[in-house]
Amino acid sequence: MTATTTELTGTVHRPGDPGWAAAVTGYNLAVVHAPALVVEAHEAADVAAAVRYAAGAGLGVAVQNTGHGARGPVGPDVLLLRTGALDSVTVDPATRTATVGAGARAGALIAATAEHGLAPVTGAAPTVGVVGLSTGGGIGPLARALGYAADRVRSLEVVTADGQQRHVDADSEPDLFFALRGGGGGVAIVTSMTIDLVELPGFWGGAVFFPGADAAAVLHAWRTWAPSLPTEVTTSIALLRLPPLPQLPEPLRGQFLVHLRIASVGSPEAGAALLAPMLQVAAPVLSTVGAMPYTALGAVHMDPADPAPTADAGCLLGEFTAEAVDALLAVAGPGVQTPLLAAEVRALGGAMAEPPAVPNAVSGRDARWSLYAVGVLVPPVAELVPAAVTGVVAALQPWRSGVQYNLAAGQGLAEAWPAGVLARLQQVTRDRDPNGLFRPAQPVPM
Ligand SMILES: Cc1cc2nc3c(=O)[nH]c(=O)nc-3n(C[C@H](O)[C@H](O)[C@H](O)COP(=O)(O)OP(=O)(O)OC[C@H]3O[C@@H](n4cnc5c(N)ncnc54)[C@H](O)[C@@H]3O)c2cc1C
Repeated sequence: MTATTTELTGTVHRPGDPGWAAAVTGYNLAVVHAPALVVEAHEAADVAAAVRYAAGAGLGVAVQNTGHGARGPVGPDVLLLRTGALDSVTVDPATRTATVGAGARAGALIAATAEHGLAPVTGAAPTVGVVGLSTGGGIGPLARALGYAADRVRSLEVVTADGQQRHVDADSEPDLFFALRGGGGGVAIVTSMTIDLVELPGFWGGAVFFPGADAAAVLHAWRTWAPSLPTEVTTSIALLRLPPLPQLPEPLRGQFLVHLRIASVGSPEAGAALLAPMLQVAAPVLSTVGAMPYTALGAVHMDPADPAPTADAGCLLGEFTAEAVDALLAVAGPGVQTPLLAAEVRALGGAMAEPPAVPNAVSGRDARWSLYAVGVLVPPVAELVPAAVTGVVAALQPWRSGVQYNLAAGQGLAEAWPAGVLARLQQVTRDRDPNGLFRPAQPVPM
């Protein structure tokens, strides 16, 4: 059906409808949206119709796929566009590319490309949306070897604020192509995206869990060991306070642990030799490290797949000194009473620091370390969680060097980009959405 300015296509939910509760929530159950209506798109034309309808009705447009990046909540001045049904994934082995719909998740993309011995650059969690991750940058478990997900985006199909469907690549729409690769999805709604794949059937790595009591020794050793690794290896570390869930392996259930993540595109022998010094620092409780198919990428970070109400905070660090380790231990280490689920530090650099062939708006390109904290808002500690996660970032303030868009948790976005990149993002936003129709979860500060 051809939409006019007042016709909606797709599945429309209005307040009180039976599907309303599911339509206004997502991965982060702490964010319950209260929009005027929800449109579930089944094809790109539904997105264009929703944009035209919203513009005519004086509503803004917010997009939600999985809700992993939900902020807000949005209110009754907004049409919430759900993209989860646009979950197509097609792989072209001849050109080593994949084209994903706006609703595709990393796990589905990885499964489809693995059939051809190919791999996409994604983040740590298979449940995260490919488009949401890539428009914000996209740091994965192999990031030092493979770079940002955004650097692999070849072209996009979008709907702009005038309700038109457009093809975006480096030649046809250079400004949109720049902004939609790292600047978030605030300048257009992506309906599908084509990305370059790498030939990579598997990797070496996994998770090593140390007792939380050894956190000081392990973190101090890790902070000097991580920068010594070749860029074929990527690593991060997290202080984890795991709930006593039956789905967790017995040695991890209900425990305070240090979770060392490692992933390498090099040989298993080289990886094992590089990891060996860390295994001398303390005796691991459990190690899953080994040769893995790429489909097991999610096993490196083991992020929770099930929706939960969460609060988070994050920033980039210029240095991770011995004093910074002590500051982290003081808020999240052994003996500290805290409702944190995780406080993690990722070692960055390598391919992430290399400029892409066509400049883009990825933030944190020169960053050395990323800090991120998250907690679950459940009684009896729910009220304490927001201060605990922001407290981790505050404790590491002396070493702060900015924020990475995807891991900024909605705070400090003005620091995300160098002034020239921010100015270009602001200009693209003004040019392409002059009336502020789009309401991204993390808007570019204007
Ligand atoms: C458990 C977990 C693990 C994570 N791991 C990583 C990681 O390893 N590396 C990393 O870089 N990030 C990571 N993130 C952050 C994640 O990449 C961002 O939150 C991302 O925005 C999620 O995208 P989504 O589509 O799944 O979420 P959603 O909440 O559905 O979308 C988030 C925002 O993305 C934008 N967006 C989504 N779809 C579109 C579209 N079609 N067009 C335009 N804009 C759109 C919108 O602004 C939307 O509000 C993680 C988050 C969680 C919760």
